[in-house]
Amino acid sequence: MARIYSDRDASLEPLKGKKICIVGYGSQGHAHALNLHDSGLDVVTALPEWDKESWKRAEKDGIKAVSLENIEGDLIAMLIPDMVQPEVYRKFVHEKLKEKSAILFAHGFNIHYNQIVPPPNVDVIMVAPKGPGPLVRRMFVEGKGVPALVAVQQNASGKALQIALAYAKGIGATRVGVIETTFKEETETDLFGEQVDLCGGVAEMIKNSFEVLVEAGYQPEVAYFEVLHELKLIVDLIYEGGIFNMWKAVSETAKYGGMTRGKRIFTSAVKEEMRKILREIQSGEFAREWILENMAGRPVYNKLLEMEASHPIELVGKEMRKLIPWLK
Ligand code: NAD
Ligand code: MG
Repeated sequence: MARIYSDRDASLEPLKGKKICIVGYGSQGHAHALNLHDSGLDVVTALPEWDKESWKRAEKDGIKAVSLENIEGDLIAMLIPDMVQPEVYRKFVHEKLKEKSAILFAHGFNIHYNQIVPPPNVDVIMVAPKGPGPLVRRMFVEGKGVPALVAVQQNASGKALQIALAYAKGIGATRVGVIETTFKEETETDLFGEQVDLCGGVAEMIKNSFEVLVEAGYQPEVAYFEVLHELKLIVDLIYEGGIFNMWKAVSETAKYGGMTRGKRIFTSAVKEEMRKILREIQSGEFAREWILENMAGRPVYNKLLEMEASHPIELVGKEMRKLIPWLK
């Protein structure tokens, strides 16, 4: 069983009187900074000079902003896009890490794949909320929280876990539950999920089923509602009560057809391919490919994104969504 921490397992004490520097004021950064500030902790955000938007937003929120040159703190949280973190770390963070201070991440990629290698005399910790930043903020304001993962990669102070839990408490995550993991587990499962299931798998399933219907002569509008729009209703049922909750809610015909035909789509060959993708993640092959792709200026990424944007389902979807009043 996973170790799950709640409010009574965590204290803000390890962060009281400590300086927290949140690098980045984006999706996660703004939420963490505001929640920690509201929890009574000493927070500044560090921002690049060119990002005037983030500077204005922090000022409006009453969070003190400093430039990257002035990063300092007992805990430095790296809340900028993963692919820019290594360079920002090398230029502005590495030399600022004091003995027994802490560096914190919200995703394990750069530590797990050695793109950032902090000195051995600092704590390396992770608090990864299982939700987007705006939700992390909204739930906190409502007195609730978003669950998070917590991990310790390096424990130089001897209190790394307590410090991570204090941070998790400060952003509201222990109000609901914080699951202990490792940088390796968080990174590999996160990449696997988004590639196979959440983003990659779902997008291909929708596009392929749409194409089959349209190629067989059915109207794209009807196909859109069938294979994309209705997916939300199904996912909501699964999210709220599990897969069986969905089976209970759909018609007898949908149950029988789904249970017998779904297995023919997700064949053992598909499952074998999932294992192959997992092995590429575990071996670092995917990480290398993505890092090199970034160094090359993202030629494949840009092309694929262009193709996604111009898929026929996007055109019909744009029109169909105009008909749906609650999407306005
Ligand atoms: P983001 O894209 O919202 O970050 C934007 C911020 O980064 C801005 O303040 C910008 O000024 C700063 N920034 C951008 N480029 C920069 C550069 N070159 N140098 C310095 N600063 C720069 O980032 P995010 O989505 O909040 O992700 C931050 C971390 O949180 C990542 O490790 C990500 O994997 C993790 N995470 C994100 C989410 C999410 O829902 N977005 C969820 C869990 C974990
Ligand atoms: Mg994820």
